[in-house]
Amino acid sequence: MSFLPQMPKLIDQFGRTVDYIRLSITDRCDFRCTYCMGEDMQFLPRHEVLSLEECARLVKIFVNLGVSKVRITGGEPLVRKNALWLFEQIGQLNGLNTLVLTTNGSQLEKYAAKLKLAGVKRVNISIDSLKPERFKKITRTGDLSQVLAGLRASIHAGFEGIKINTVLMRGSNEDEATDLVEFAINQKIDISFIEEMPLGLVDHSRENTFVSNTETLKLLQSKYSLLPSTETTGGPARYWRVADSHTKIGFISPHSHNFCESCNRVRITCKGELFLCLGQDDKIELMPLLRQHPDDDAPIIEAIINSMKIKPKGHDFDLKRAAPAVVRFMSHTGG
Ligand code: SAM
Ligand code: SF4
Repeated sequence: MSFLPQMPKLIDQFGRTVDYIRLSITDRCDFRCTYCMGEDMQFLPRHEVLSLEECARLVKIFVNLGVSKVRITGGEPLVRKNALWLFEQIGQLNGLNTLVLTTNGSQLEKYAAKLKLAGVKRVNISIDSLKPERFKKITRTGDLSQVLAGLRASIHAGFEGIKINTVLMRGSNEDEATDLVEFAINQKIDISFIEEMPLGLVDHSRENTFVSNTETLKLLQSKYSLLPSTETTGGPARYWRVADSHTKIGFISPHSHNFCESCNRVRITCKGELFLCLGQDDKIELMPLLRQHPDDDAPIIEAIINSMKIKPKGHDFDLKRAAPAVVRFMSHTGG
């Protein structure tokens, strides 16, 4: 993969350059994490989901528009049949600097080495608990040993960066912050704590389970020497380095820290909806354009450039509201 710096072409009305896309390649998942999905999920029929060829075409268009970082997510991206083909296509694009993956890790034992070969630089693996029973309870169907085998395979494959993503919930896994950081230090990998976001209706009141990153940071500062870091991976996380270790701790805090002013990304769902903000409903539909113009990218390019005019200034998360801020689940928009 070679990197050719390009003139940014996607600049929104607030002067922010969009150079990062997150593409969800499926809404399906082998887990049913309690904060992410309801127990009974209706998944989309196949024809309403972008084909992998359409995904590849879209990513190529975005890269030609100056996007240099692509995150593949879902649902669980690695449960999509032939997902590896898409990684191989994207990995070869001139102009793309960083291809990364967010996964629950269940399929990584099988795919880690192949993904590395395809050009994936970094992998985020969601692990909310190191206790097998609790892990099962949070994910409803997940097997911790399978995920840990996936993590080991990823370390072995030699990615530039591996990070655990953790959502802490009161009354569930809020007591595991230190154990998870200790685990990350031992594995020489990073960890990020993501505050629970009110995306989609779930079986619990998010107001009751919410754990703020301010609280988690305070707890971890009492146990570790944490050095504030200016490092960024191009995302919204604020990082701290654990002294005398290889580990960085990130905090993704949509409630306590508003990261919108530096937002450089847009999200594309597996239905081809281009969402301009995770926490707002502003979007355009790319699937009809892709299907109406199979051989002509111009209308799609024009629509994407025009969409910059409706990228909102910021999100609007409020846990106390009776209805979720955004009715769609994270598995729909792509985390
Ligand atoms: N299945 C993959 C995984 O779990 O990593 C990728 C998709 S998942 C939607 C991406 C990330 O979103 C995960 O780290 C998950 O913990 C997080 N997530 C899902 N729902 C969330 C919510 N309501 N609030 C905060 N984070 C959420
Ligand atoms: Fe699946 Fe990821 Fe959502 Fe968990 S967080 S249900 S693994 S999409």
